[in-house]
Amino acid sequence: MNTVVNTTINDLERVFQKQKVKAIEWRTSTAKERIHRLKKLQRYMLSHQKEIEQALHIDLRKHEVEAVMTEIYVANKEIKECIKHLKGWMKPKYVSTPLPLFTTSGKVVYEPKGVSLIIAPWNYPFFLQMGPFVNAIAAGNTAILKPSEMTPHVSSIVKKIISEVFEEEEAYVAEGGVEVSTALLEMPFDHIYFTGSPQVGKIIMNAAAKNLSSVTLELGGKSPVVVDKKVNQKDAAKKIIWGKLTNMGQTCVAPDYLLVHEEIEKEFLDALQESMQKMYNADGKGIQQAEALSRIVNERHFDRIVGIIEDAIVKGAEVVCGGTWDRDDLYIAPTILRNVTEDMKVMQEEIFGPLLPVNTYKTLEEAIEIVDRREKPLAYYIFSKSRRAQKYLLNHSTAGSTAINETILQVAHPHLPFGGVNNSGIGKANGYYSFLEFSNQRSVLKQKVGLTNMSMLYPPYTPFSATM
Ligand code: NAD
Repeated sequence: MNTVVNTTINDLERVFQKQKVKAIEWRTSTAKERIHRLKKLQRYMLSHQKEIEQALHIDLRKHEVEAVMTEIYVANKEIKECIKHLKGWMKPKYVSTPLPLFTTSGKVVYEPKGVSLIIAPWNYPFFLQMGPFVNAIAAGNTAILKPSEMTPHVSSIVKKIISEVFEEEEAYVAEGGVEVSTALLEMPFDHIYFTGSPQVGKIIMNAAAKNLSSVTLELGGKSPVVVDKKVNQKDAAKKIIWGKLTNMGQTCVAPDYLLVHEEIEKEFLDALQESMQKMYNADGKGIQQAEALSRIVNERHFDRIVGIIEDAIVKGAEVVCGGTWDRDDLYIAPTILRNVTEDMKVMQEEIFGPLLPVNTYKTLEEAIEIVDRREKPLAYYIFSKSRRAQKYLLNHSTAGSTAINETILQVAHPHLPFGGVNNSGIGKANGYYSFLEFSNQRSVLKQKVGLTNMSMLYPPYTPFSATM
């Protein structure tokens, strides 16, 4: 290991020890104190909005509207939710008392877990770092944040904001790549909140096991879209294209692949292309010129996605549109592929780019079976006008979340839990659900002093004892 890395590791250990002390002090922090911290963070964040937008533009060429909508607005909304509801969330929850325990009372108290570690990915590098951080603070934890090394400008503005608003014993940003994560994962954090790929999620869970740190894993995978034959095609096509091309397909809940009823395939492929032209080529200058389209994050991911297209073509997929790229501009034309087969990479790995493979099915049972061949998805989209088909698809499948006749918006609903299931994630995020992830739900049973009517519990036992 080189000296720079060693220095960083020493820093991390020092900060971790300081945070442990602070976390004990913060066990008794009130809602008022936590809200004060959140308001300070909110003021500082909003006063640096332009800098955040610029950083997102440099790292991912995000359009400013998309930067505000999918990164800054949602982070601010998370803060507002916490400020509004924290007092209620923190209130102990009294539970009813069963007859045999009638002399006692029981409640659940929500205590901070302690020192938390929040590791973020690069695709929504601001929100996916700040969102969980806001909840860690709301729940009374200290935190070490590890942004993605792939979006260095956003990482740097996150560091600036956190170090201006917090002392390092309260919150600290550890910039760097895998070596920094690995060093952090040696430490006995009270909670680890990770957002990223299932592959790295397994490394995180393994590392957490050494210290039995609790984990939230917000992961990814292949999110299917099932399009029934009874569907408003125009509406469905628009929503699918928007969900797919937001952030150039680099969205964890982006529609990954499409299963379209065979009777409407041709018409629906036309509707998809029409929507794409309307949204990203309204001025006729070409889709590559569309300001609303971000870029692929770096050459490594660019080559990976191009490799997926080439593999599909070699194995016999038909390019419906797109299929071209410009490496200097990190641009891949939105590409629709049909006749895709299970042996193609495009149907095996999470695409995380502007490719949309389309396959057909004959019956809803077949559509369900195709999805079930893969890991449980993070999101599952259903497009249908038929309530019967909606209900059937919903009840016979499993996923972290589902949107019916919509894409992505389920994530934006503050009162719905967001997360995956098994391979697509463990634990839930969003407002109250995140607060719970960062809280220890401690049970407290209180016996009324001096009452002895529990004596049947103690030996010598009588037949009556077992009825307790
Ligand atoms: P990634 O798993 O490669 O990296 C995520 C973070 O883990 C980064 O900070 C990285 O530095 C760190 N990391 C990478 N390798 C590591 C290792 N070996 N040990 C320890 N830490 C390591 O993910 P990514 O490429 O940044 O993001 C894309 C993935 O994230 C996709 O799978 C996507 O679906 C998923 N994602 C999920 C959500 C969600 O909310 N469920 C949101 C966004 C992205």
